[in-house]
Amino acid sequence: MPLRFKAIQNLSTNPEIKVDGSARITGIFGSNVFTIKTAREFLSDEAYKSLLSSIRSSQKIDRSMANQIANGIRAWAESKGVTHFTHWFQPLTGATAEKHDSFFTIKSDGTPIEQFEGDALIQQEPDASSFPSGGLRATFEARGYTAWDPSSPAFIMEIGQGKTLCIPTIFVSYTGESLDYKAPLLKALESLNKAAVDVCNYFDKNITRVSPTLGWEQEYFVIDEALFNARPDLVMTGRTVFGHTSAKNQQLEDQYFGSIPERIYAYMRDFETESYKLGIPLRTRHNEVAPGQYECAPIFEEVSVSVDHNALLMDVMERVARRHKLRVLLHEKPFAGINGSGKHNNWSMATDTGINLLAPGKTPKTNLMFLTFFVNTIKAVHDYSDVLRASIASAPNDHRLGANEAPPAIISVFIGQYLSKVLNDVKERVSDKMDETDETMLKIDIHKSIPELLMDNTDRNRTSPFAFTGNKFEFRAVGSSANCSNPMTVLNAIMAATLKQFKKEVDGLIEKGEKKEIAIMHTIRQYIVDSEKVLFEGDGYSEAWTKEAEKRGLPNVKTTPLALDAMVSEKAKQLFESNTIFTHSELEARHEIELEKYIKKVQIESRIMGELATSHILPAAIRYQNLLANNIKGLKESGLKETAYSNQKQILEKIAEHISKTSDLVEKMIEARKICNNMENTRTKAIAYQSQVKDVFFDEIRYNVDKLELLVDDREWYLPKYREMLFLR
Ligand code: ADP
Ligand code: MG
Repeated sequence: MPLRFKAIQNLSTNPEIKVDGSARITGIFGSNVFTIKTAREFLSDEAYKSLLSSIRSSQKIDRSMANQIANGIRAWAESKGVTHFTHWFQPLTGATAEKHDSFFTIKSDGTPIEQFEGDALIQQEPDASSFPSGGLRATFEARGYTAWDPSSPAFIMEIGQGKTLCIPTIFVSYTGESLDYKAPLLKALESLNKAAVDVCNYFDKNITRVSPTLGWEQEYFVIDEALFNARPDLVMTGRTVFGHTSAKNQQLEDQYFGSIPERIYAYMRDFETESYKLGIPLRTRHNEVAPGQYECAPIFEEVSVSVDHNALLMDVMERVARRHKLRVLLHEKPFAGINGSGKHNNWSMATDTGINLLAPGKTPKTNLMFLTFFVNTIKAVHDYSDVLRASIASAPNDHRLGANEAPPAIISVFIGQYLSKVLNDVKERVSDKMDETDETMLKIDIHKSIPELLMDNTDRNRTSPFAFTGNKFEFRAVGSSANCSNPMTVLNAIMAATLKQFKKEVDGLIEKGEKKEIAIMHTIRQYIVDSEKVLFEGDGYSEAWTKEAEKRGLPNVKTTPLALDAMVSEKAKQLFESNTIFTHSELEARHEIELEKYIKKVQIESRIMGELATSHILPAAIRYQNLLANNIKGLKESGLKETAYSNQKQILEKIAEHISKTSDLVEKMIEARKICNNMENTRTKAIAYQSQVKDVFFDEIRYNVDKLELLVDDREWYLPKYREMLFLR
């Protein structure tokens, strides 16, 4: 029996997976994490203090302490049944990487022992050669090593019966180039910290540290494993390259926030439990708009930890799904015709004095501080919208951005009517010849016009790629499968650069004799004027906005290969170099890697399309074609009038037409691919893959195949259909 039918049959006999979700979350939360509290228990005073200061200052661990700390971590891990350890890192492949070593070793005299040395904790040398380096290795002949990042705590990953101690690390080359997502992120966060503290000190001298915060919202699809396995395109690419939309999809909107199906609910509780043990503070779960689509979100955390937690969660979700004979689809657009999946990045900045810099304050002074950070964010997005766009560019996200349900590729900022009015007031009331009375009036007025609580749910705009939502900005254009590091590196870097510039300008005015508050207000006003055109309150999905944005001169780059150009522009090089985040060669390397990723993804999709068309679709269509042809022949031979088989003939004609178009297009697509593959320049090749392979053939082939799906006898069709994947569970 073909897999499709077996899968459908098995659905009703799926065993129920027992999930123990009865434990109180506080009872298990962080139980697999080497927290500060655990450290207190397992480390000597000296080692504990050294670890703590490394965490606080994001500094490397002191070598002399490393052995002691490693011993403590091993003792803790062994008390939980751990036998192996690994450096856990986030290479530029997009997945997380690990290579397990056991604590077990044999001493020179032959004695078997268990040990974990400081050196192994601090640094490891994975075989770097098979991770992407974008030519960096060739240029510098650099070997790579992983180094412990103490800002993110060690944890124990349970896989089946095995337990592994994971040390979060960064991955760099011996000549210092970053080879992962995490290292540049840490640099960007540090850069933001410095710039933001400087600006904060205009208002409050007690602030000595600013930590950006991130709370992501993870959207995903879940489908039955057997149905998944019967779809080679899902297995290979994470999305369906063919499939006619089902009679019912999301038009009734009956799934959004609806009750969660039992089997999915068991899965959610199971992966939530695993996540809690790992210290991932998941908070919400619900059905999303599309059938089979769901979302979860945690309580926000400091960016670096939050990024790790999202990467870990994606890993956990995939593993746990298999336990339930389910598959989670993290792809941005697994199914055509229904919503895709995003990963909204909610972002703000918190001071070590406990203030959220994007939340309006209680006093005129804190409100001016809020306004400063608020306007600087808008200015940053305005000045670097192209770099921000590049940070979320990927082959799968291209299917989503600008499609009906997702924010457009045009980066704009939504702030709501309240704050729009405030900015307008500032723009109008602050004049060049401002005097002290103006200043007091303005401060009081601003205070009055910014309510303490801005979280007004009626004033929300779901169509904006970058929206202010009361006490944070929500970057909505991030794709569901993305590692948050990239967008977070860029967002924090552009914010750091903008704040530095802001400080320079304010200090300039102060030097000229202006009062501090006046200098700040003037600069804020200037920034509002400079960045106004990036503000947009209307419907981001509308045709009218595309036109309006063009008039305003806002970039609208729809495809990844072109969007990535902004990573290596002079402006980007200057931005990243002056904030010591990327050198020019690191940027070039990353650009190259992203382009290569794009090429490979489109290439694989194109191959699987050709393969499926040739070995699945056409044989099914031809089988049915023969059946019809024989039927017509039989009817004709028995002397019936043509009206007796004219319907069959019509169907046969249509089938024949779609068969020939499909096979013809597949041939031509293979030819087009060959031309692309011979191209030397990576950028040219990526553009060619997009414009000559994807754009020319994908929709066209799909159109014909999807037509065949409707025409061919259901019993001859071996690929699970949309209605089965989306509605059966
Ligand atoms: P929504 O209505 O978009 O679902 P929520 O208020 O439920 O918004 O929050 C969504 C996400 O925003 C959550 O992950 C939450 O942790 C995060 N969030 C809230 N406040 C902040 C903040 N100050 N910094 C970063 N993320 C935040
Ligand atoms: Mg949201």
